[in-house]
Amino acid sequence: MGAPVDLTSYAELAVQLVNMGDELRNPFSLRSLLEETGRTEAASRLTRRDVDALWELREELAGVFEAAAGGDDVDVVDRLNGLLVRHPVHPQISGHDGQPWHLHLTEGGRVADALSVGSVMGLASVVTRLGVDRLGLCQASPCRNAYIDTSSNRSRRYCSERCASRANVAAYRARKRGA
Ligand SMILES: [Zn+2]
Ligand SMILES: [Zn+2]
Repeated sequence: MGAPVDLTSYAELAVQLVNMGDELRNPFSLRSLLEETGRTEAASRLTRRDVDALWELREELAGVFEAAAGGDDVDVVDRLNGLLVRHPVHPQISGHDGQPWHLHLTEGGRVADALSVGSVMGLASVVTRLGVDRLGLCQASPCRNAYIDTSSNRSRRYCSERCASRANVAAYRARKRGA
């Protein structure tokens, strides 16, 4: 990983992996996501085995968001604790590429290892700093994309502006029919 540990961006990576759905199995799509989010070094080293490992991780991360959307805090914590055991943090101070000393969550190993450790730590950080209810699934049916609610009044219900306006239009039509 070429950047300092940024747990917020790792939590967003967890969301992005979940929302890729089946596209995650396509190495080209995954590589694009990594490049677009500034993880160029990981993108360049990505192998088929990394893609398979991240596909499996995606299922587990999706389960965390589903448990959170269902309001089951204990289930969320159990799932994250299980993932933390399987993807342990091995922090190392690094100063590659002329960068100032910074922490890596894990060193060496495969791309999937580093991304897994980061995603799981990112979600664990959100849950412990902000609360389980900050993890959610989009309520603009049929979309079930994951999101992290960082709004000050915990009001987020949709994955995107697009889904929010779609839900508003649907609610408006429903009101008109009812009137
Ligand atoms: Zn680094
Ligand atoms: Zn949505």
